[in-house]
Amino acid sequence: MMHAAVVGSGPNGLAAALTLAKAGVEVTVYEAAASPGGGARSTQATLDGLVHDHCAGFHPLAVDNAFTKFAQLEEYGLQWAWPEVQYAHPLDDGDGAAAYRSVAQTAEGLQDPSWKHLFGSLTEQFPTITRDFLQPMLRLPDAPLQFANFGLRAGLPANVLARLLRNERSRALFAGVAAHAFRPLQSFGSAAIGVALASAGHAYGWPVAKGGSSAIVDAMLKALYAHGGQVVTGTRISTAAQLPDADIVMLNTAPGAAADIMGSEIPQRVSKQLHTFRHGAAAATVSLAVEGGIPWTYAPARAAGTVHVGGTFSEIAFVERQVTNGVMPRNPFVLVGQQSVADASRGRDTVHPVDAYAHVPAGYPHDVTEEIVRQIERFAPGVRDRIVASSSRTTADLAVENPNFVGGDIVTGSNAFDQLLFRPRPALNPYRLGASGAYLCSAATPPGAGAHGMAGYNAATAALAELNR
Ligand SMILES: Cc1cc2nc3c(=O)[nH]c(=O)nc-3n(C[C@H](O)[C@H](O)[C@H](O)COP(=O)(O)OP(=O)(O)OC[C@H]3O[C@@H](n4cnc5c(N)ncnc54)[C@H](O)[C@@H]3O)c2cc1C
Repeated sequence: MMHAAVVGSGPNGLAAALTLAKAGVEVTVYEAAASPGGGARSTQATLDGLVHDHCAGFHPLAVDNAFTKFAQLEEYGLQWAWPEVQYAHPLDDGDGAAAYRSVAQTAEGLQDPSWKHLFGSLTEQFPTITRDFLQPMLRLPDAPLQFANFGLRAGLPANVLARLLRNERSRALFAGVAAHAFRPLQSFGSAAIGVALASAGHAYGWPVAKGGSSAIVDAMLKALYAHGGQVVTGTRISTAAQLPDADIVMLNTAPGAAADIMGSEIPQRVSKQLHTFRHGAAAATVSLAVEGGIPWTYAPARAAGTVHVGGTFSEIAFVERQVTNGVMPRNPFVLVGQQSVADASRGRDTVHPVDAYAHVPAGYPHDVTEEIVRQIERFAPGVRDRIVASSSRTTADLAVENPNFVGGDIVTGSNAFDQLLFRPRPALNPYRLGASGAYLCSAATPPGAGAHGMAGYNAATAALAELNR
């Protein structure tokens, strides 16, 4: 029987472990934290009985991908819940923009048919496009025409793509999704993540996991245990010598950490490439317990799972450039998660859990509770008086809690154009670390950040193919 050691139990580590275990490999996962799940855990960050997602809250790319088809996590208890409005974007004077599952309804609400022109065909083709989008880029696409249709838009700077939209509301709505890339909206390829998330919002919605994102982890663990896998928590791996003899070593870590752990067991050239992988701008988080929920002036935002807070396209473009340049904006871009809108089990009586984060410069040392609350208050006057408990994490807290979030970089690697295409390094098989049986499977590998498990699944599939399993 083959043996595998997986370092890290984030969604990608667990996806890799499960893929290997289902192929008959004996798998042990080693996790530094006290509990498994990495960026897909849930906690009671404010009050007892209130379920907060510790990191990932919304899962547009996890609902229906190759890994979830393979893993059948619904059989292990995972259930999705959708909000009525997938994401919303309040503007001043009670105006705003909202994204619904239907492209037509969204365009109608925006009073802008150009939204439908931009996302209509992409949405129809998205299930086909994801087959290529969720893979390494250096390969022949399965559906070249559809992928080209996606690539022609995704490769543009977000501000150029936004010119195809006719009004300020639609441009602001697009800025909110494009900003998930943590990139200046004028840079090459900065439209890519926005185009993917907006299309996924119409094709699959932006659902939450019922009971908390930890339900994804619980389902993966149940499936892993059912296939004989094990997880050892509270064990940080610093060197490969700590691991038992294994045919496969799968690293769910940042690239630099993978190079340190593998030391001279991987070629020096690969080690150097992993050490020069660049991390990007960061996030700092706030969890709030809010009596009666957030009183957004723009009513559709009250029914939205995610609310993007930052105003117009040009305001968001300005602050996103600032954080990349190391300047803390006075009014940062803020993402607000209202999971209880889709899943009432997250709240307690009339108190709702809210999880928000602001985009900040890498390593920004200060608490940003005030900046976040001030931004929300701008579009939801009176919210401050409704907050009954809160807790916050700086970039340093995030990096200590999860070493993959270097400097608070919650997407494990800058989405600059070169790294968007080739992460963590240019290679036909980007998961391989250049030594037999050694692989990287974190969000630093394709297809990048998100609790979708695809990097782990791709890496494990590559390992099995190379070892002829
Ligand atoms: C505030 C926040 C909000 C987010 N929102 C979303 C969202 O809404 N939707 C979404 O899809 N994604 C979101 N993300 C991103 C998502 O959480 C990550 O992209 C995803 O978790 C990456 O998965 P992973 O398996 O690669 O690694 P991680 O989830 O980062 O897990 C890595 C694990 O490996 C462990 N580890 C690392 N090094 C070692 C070592 N040397 N030894 C042992 N263990 C080690 C860590 O402790 C951790 O548990 C968010 C992230 C944050 C922080």
